[in-house]
Amino acid sequence: MTLHDKYALSKVINAAGTFTPVGVSRSSAGVSEAVAQALGQFVVMSELQDVASQAIARWSGGQAGTVVHCAAAGITLAIAAAMVGTDAERIAALPDAEGVRNQVLMPRTHAVNYGHSILQAVRLSGARPLLAGTDAHCGIDELEAQMINLNIACLLVVSSRLTHGTALDLERVVAMAHRFDVPVVLDAAAQDWRVAQLLAAGADMTVFSAQKYLAAPTAGIVIGRQHWVDAVRAQENGIGRGMKASKEALLGVLQAIAEREQLDSGAWFALQDEKVRCFIAAFTGINDVTARAVADPAGMPMSRVHLSITSVSARLNASALAKVLKGGSPSIWVMEHLLAENQLVLELTMLDAAEIDQVASRITALLGQ
Ligand SMILES: *Cc1c(COP(=O)(O)O)cnc(C)c1O
Repeated sequence: MTLHDKYALSKVINAAGTFTPVGVSRSSAGVSEAVAQALGQFVVMSELQDVASQAIARWSGGQAGTVVHCAAAGITLAIAAAMVGTDAERIAALPDAEGVRNQVLMPRTHAVNYGHSILQAVRLSGARPLLAGTDAHCGIDELEAQMINLNIACLLVVSSRLTHGTALDLERVVAMAHRFDVPVVLDAAAQDWRVAQLLAAGADMTVFSAQKYLAAPTAGIVIGRQHWVDAVRAQENGIGRGMKASKEALLGVLQAIAEREQLDSGAWFALQDEKVRCFIAAFTGINDVTARAVADPAGMPMSRVHLSITSVSARLNASALAKVLKGGSPSIWVMEHLLAENQLVLELTMLDAAEIDQVASRITALLGQ
């Protein structure tokens, strides 16, 4: 019996990318096995974190790393690390930051919401966000105008879907912050394919979600120099207690990293291109809709499909179509950030060939063709 049958859960086809509300990703058999093995064993957790640090460093090119509960936790704990370091008394006092410098500078264009506002992830540590620029624009000049060495950190986000305005040049922002002796925390949760490139921007702590493209169990990875990683780990005796990584997450992450290192990434990207090509081909000759491949705006190496409803006389507009797809069985989830432009955005990385066929034929049927 499948778990969907056992618990009467909706069957889902996830064309929305590494989307948290539907379970993010599918882990490999190897990762599942590593998790199952972990659950039956005792381990010294700090040894396991040391092993994870070495594996993260080998994979990413960073100096050290640690595993926490998720990327949101990683952001809170990196900010806490920037604020109180390894000072045991201050760690124990958080989120009470009385008498401690606690201002975190952020471009307003990076004040994203990934299920909650990232500003809350900052405030959970006891820090206070200070926003530069407007919702639509924050350049390096706007940021520099607010950069004072009283800031405990500068927090930046790189995301394919969530940030606004023109992308900031990360390397220049990091260099500028460092001139003010302000460390930089980079939230790169879903950008693990670009890990080496993003680390090269020079942020002090860079945060990834392990359950997104790496397809590990839910976990966050914080990468940086050893003293920053030590400071993040030290938070486990404070606010980090409720944000810790489990042994099964740690062993799942180790296995997922090993599998990523062995993966033929060229072949994997070619497979993703082929899925996009097949899906788009299903829409040739279909009226009222165009399908095209759009490169990832943040520089991830795979494209998404933008499906535009081109006719006002189409049976359904994009919003109605998204709603009917989600309400059907299986329930099909797509990205909904361009509905106002009458577009559905689909990411096919999580789908197999049969699911891709199913999605294309459901959409064409709904459009009456
Ligand atoms: C997914 C995501 C997060 C949150 O990641 P979790 O691991 O679910 O906590 C944070 N920031 C960005 C940009 C994300 O895409």
